[in-house]
Amino acid sequence: MDVYGLIGNPVGHSLSPPMHEAAYEELGIDARYVTFEPPADAGATGVESAATLGVSGLNVTIPFKQDVLDAVEPAPLAERIGAVNTVDFATDPPTGYNTDAVGATRALRDHDVALEGTAVVVGAGGAGRAVAFGLADEGMTVDIANRTEAKAHDLAEEVPDATGHGLDALDELVAAADVLVNCTSVGMKADRSPVPAEALHADLGVLDAVYDPIETRLLRDAAEAGATTVDGAWMLLYQGVEAFERWTGEDAPVEKMNRVLRERL
Ligand code: NAP
Repeated sequence: MDVYGLIGNPVGHSLSPPMHEAAYEELGIDARYVTFEPPADAGATGVESAATLGVSGLNVTIPFKQDVLDAVEPAPLAERIGAVNTVDFATDPPTGYNTDAVGATRALRDHDVALEGTAVVVGAGGAGRAVAFGLADEGMTVDIANRTEAKAHDLAEEVPDATGHGLDALDELVAAADVLVNCTSVGMKADRSPVPAEALHADLGVLDAVYDPIETRLLRDAAEAGATTVDGAWMLLYQGVEAFERWTGEDAPVEKMNRVLRERL
């Protein structure tokens, strides 16, 4: 039996175990997906221990996404993003991937949002970094807007063809954009949006990384403006799908994983 899992602190409410175990069941794979919660300073040690114990793959969540870089050989995209959320132990040293970027681009594509033109990424934290690199690698021109404007400028210096801004630029940026992704925590467990509703328009594809609630204020405003909306559960789904496919080499049973995920959200 293969063992996969999630390392984070805390991991108690993670939706990854049911999502991955549903995929193993659907494809008849003899595997389990378990959670590990080491102390907050023991991310890299945790990954090394998992390798010793014969774990096949690990997802990585807060607060370990940066720390585990010390215990893996990062894939080029993970190295540029500076964070790993998926470890594959098939190699020695294990390979570290960042599937959040692909999670966002696959979620948008899945909803027929063309990844062309200009994207506005709101937020410059972990999710913002991953999504900005992911969209730039698709060939989009990326505008990054962040509450702490200096962080947006710093990130924009690393991302090809990107420009940094404060949140006050959002009206103008969004009016001219093709894609908008909220990568702040604004809207999580609160009826708030980081983007003025008046700026939204029908030619936008809007992804909100926030998935609690599934239908955020931003997505409601975007739908009212006639935009194509993509909720954060799609990004969560596709980062998991990407990890599953890297680990097993099989096409993931996306519909089954999506159903199980949404039943629990
Ligand atoms: P993070 O690294 O802590 O970054 C938080 C971001 O939110 C920063 O840009 C921060 O701006 C901004 N922010 C926080 N409070 C704000 C406020 N009141 N007004 C304006 N901006 C504010 O967090 P993260 O890991 O990037 O996660 C961000 C969100 O994405 C969370 O809701 C998380 O659940 C979600 N997420 C979803 C997925 C998925 O698969 N769907 C994956 C990853 C993350 P400052 O820099 O100014 O503090």
